[in-house]
Amino acid sequence: MSTSKEEPAPEPKKSSAGTFEEMPLHPTLRRGIAEMGYLEPTPIQRDAIPAAVGGRDLIGTAQTGTGKTAAFLLPILERLLSAPRGRIHALVLTPTRELALQALGFLQVLGRHAGLRSVAVYGGVGMGDQERGLRGGAEIIVATPGRLLDHMSRGYVNFREVEILVLDEADRMLDMGFLPDVRRILRELPPRRQTLLFSATMPPPVLQLAREFLRDPKSVKVGETTAAAVGVSHLALPVPAHRKTDLLTTLLEDQTMTSVLVFTRTKHRADRLARQLQHSGFDVGVIHGNRSQNQRVQALERFREGHHRILVATDIAARGIDVEGVSHVVNYDLPDVPEAYIHRVGRTARASRQGDAYSLVSPEEEPDLVRIERHLGLAIPKSRLPGFDYSRPPPAASPNYTGRQDRRGREPSRGSYRPARQFRRGGRSGSSHR
Ligand code: AMP
Repeated sequence: MSTSKEEPAPEPKKSSAGTFEEMPLHPTLRRGIAEMGYLEPTPIQRDAIPAAVGGRDLIGTAQTGTGKTAAFLLPILERLLSAPRGRIHALVLTPTRELALQALGFLQVLGRHAGLRSVAVYGGVGMGDQERGLRGGAEIIVATPGRLLDHMSRGYVNFREVEILVLDEADRMLDMGFLPDVRRILRELPPRRQTLLFSATMPPPVLQLAREFLRDPKSVKVGETTAAAVGVSHLALPVPAHRKTDLLTTLLEDQTMTSVLVFTRTKHRADRLARQLQHSGFDVGVIHGNRSQNQRVQALERFREGHHRILVATDIAARGIDVEGVSHVVNYDLPDVPEAYIHRVGRTARASRQGDAYSLVSPEEEPDLVRIERHLGLAIPKSRLPGFDYSRPPPAASPNYTGRQDRRGREPSRGSYRPARQFRRGGRSGSSHR
């Protein structure tokens, strides 16, 4: 697995060669790159993009945080610009829903002007939207292996025109026991295709896979990451403030979120969220400054031992939390200061593990997100959870709910009701699903 040392991020290297302008990418994609906020390519992008656009197979040794996702998505988009629409031309296999959504988020921005459609296929949600995508509604499929095989067994998936395949985080797929599924999928793809394989490490079964399925691959390798948060994959989910709790409970239906640390901005919000989650049937602990030392220690113990799958915390209370194996950090509210973001997401991806960090970002919090991205020196991909109802209005009937929050997440006293600002579509901050 990836190494996750907590050392300061290396200064981004300036390179005289290898700017995005010098890369063999169509101007329409450069627009997407600019909208992602990328100023210059990361080392893996510099090495991988020209070779992949030139049609070579690739073995990339790179972990999350290196910019590898754009390193394989940009060549896909470039290759497909002139491909006929309505058929599947590219398949990205990825071990987890987070990575699938992350790639989808990138595709929505990078590919916005290219008119290419993408769909994410993963378990734990309905099949309908995914089926429509697979039946010709999308040219690019990003999928976890198990759910993709479910669809394939139903007979409507046509991979005859797949010309480019990506195996993302192959070592993690190995760890999760997916390699047999991956092989079954690969057998259904046309043999004449381009294959890009990315992995943080190259254990023998991954190398074997590469030997079997790649042709004369070019090796590209980077140890350098773009951000302090080594080994963490970041995903921002834009959402109206009043839909955050529902979005979180929907996310939590994913059983791979085994140990989840959720951050809120205030003690009051931590308590309220913990109550709401308990009400929905989750095992939840809560720690914040108003809890006694005893209560905090107990909540932490129960989280550590796995009795509580979820721990809701405020920043102060989370200082010094060191729990092995936190699978996910969720920023229910973004922190005020970017340093706190790094501190929070540092709770996951500890001890050489990889972790995932979700941020639920209301329109009011978008400036905070921009500050965090600037501080990290990376653009956090944005995604919408397919199938989730973002437009449901606030529960106006609730006696304590005003439907209003200021940007600190405080709810003013009851009275004048104003519906939350409609979630913006389009633009970097509100990429639509397709
Ligand atoms: P990845 O390794 O693909 O998970 O990407 C890690 C993070 O780096 C993501 O938040 C990307 O949006 C960001 N990123 C990727 N390429 C660049 C770039 N050229 N400049 C700045 N940030 C980038």
